[in-house]
Amino acid sequence: MTVAPHFSHRNDTLHAEQVPLTQLAQEFGTPLYVYSRQALRDAWENYRTATEGRNALVCFGMKANSNLSVLREFMELGAGFDIVSGGELARVLAIGGDAGKVVFSGVGKQEWELRAALEAGVKCFNVESEAELEELARVAADMGKVAPVSLRVNPDVDAHTHPYISTGLKENKFGIDINTALSVYARAAALDSLKVVGVDCHIGSQITEVDPYLDALDKLCHLIHALQDSGIRLHHLDLGGGIGIRYTDETPLLPVDLVSRVFETLERNKLGHLQLVLEPGRSLVGNAGVLLTSVVYLKHAEAKNFAIVDAAMNDLIRPTLYDAWHDVEAVQPADPDTPPQSYDIVGPICESGDWLARNRTLALRQGDLLAIMSAGAYAFTMASQYNTRPRPAEIMVDGDSYRVVRPRESLQSLFAPELEALQGRT
Ligand SMILES: *Cc1c(COP(=O)(O)O)cnc(C)c1O
Repeated sequence: MTVAPHFSHRNDTLHAEQVPLTQLAQEFGTPLYVYSRQALRDAWENYRTATEGRNALVCFGMKANSNLSVLREFMELGAGFDIVSGGELARVLAIGGDAGKVVFSGVGKQEWELRAALEAGVKCFNVESEAELEELARVAADMGKVAPVSLRVNPDVDAHTHPYISTGLKENKFGIDINTALSVYARAAALDSLKVVGVDCHIGSQITEVDPYLDALDKLCHLIHALQDSGIRLHHLDLGGGIGIRYTDETPLLPVDLVSRVFETLERNKLGHLQLVLEPGRSLVGNAGVLLTSVVYLKHAEAKNFAIVDAAMNDLIRPTLYDAWHDVEAVQPADPDTPPQSYDIVGPICESGDWLARNRTLALRQGDLLAIMSAGAYAFTMASQYNTRPRPAEIMVDGDSYRVVRPRESLQSLFAPELEALQGRT
């Protein structure tokens, strides 16, 4: 019973592929992020088959998990990348990624980031405001380049997801109001240092229904026709990411269902010539990872039982930030003499918001090993060093072998630059 098929119980012990998680905990300590290479490949395969024979490009929304080994895996499988910062661009370039398959999203691109992306030659800038459009035009002109642009429009559709991960409503900071997009496109087309190549939207995250996408697509089709009438022809249509995964009992939307409905709609609207770009993040990595943690103490207070574990909100902020659910699985069978009780799984951080799961019925003892499931997306990438906690190691399992894809941070490394500053050496 697991949300992630590559993490399953064999001989009573939870494994990542063929490797017992007990072995990894013993060798590398906890907390520990463990990824399954096969899970990455399977998730990619869903998109590959969905887009097979179509004019489509799948750009991994890499803020979900930007470990270089994860990026390299997707690059080798043929992915492009959706980046949201100059830092993410640097990661793509560090693995020898093709900038021609990179789309650059984000509301606050700074000059140095625009320059780096122009220098690298990204496929497209997904421009989110008129001010950004003017700045991009200025920077590109200054560099003697022509910037490929797409406007990220806000289609004002409700993705039926958590308010913090909903991005396609009028009141969100993202994108350009679809009703003013025509005039902004006209402005873009008039600027010599810009080349209009596409249109883009990204309506939210953890979306489990196809309808919000189709609502957005309808609006985009209208816009594209209006653009054609005014002489602006696009090359691609980017529907963003946002496809949900199974955290507990959700029935996720399948890429093949989304893609086939999208192409049907495009063809019906005589827009079958457009390249489809997708930017999935979570759905490529979310269930390819777990966060392993050990029970440090059990605490039975009057109102609640607490299992205090060695992972915390700094390692996985989704529960407290989004009120998100992550399944929690015992790695080994419960001791028959330990009765199951309802626990809040909490970390050692000095914040009441430091919880990972609430009201979970588990038979726990001190020292037990737990797996926080679905921790492949927005886990390590959102991790911090709050409370001077080194970020955990990341391990990639591949069949019966495994390797460290990022070592655990040392305590010393957390404050070495401060120590140098203190000693007046810099
Ligand atoms: C975060 C983000 C994505 C990826 O979203 P998922 O929900 O992880 O698929 C794609 N595009 C943009 C612009 C984003 O900000």
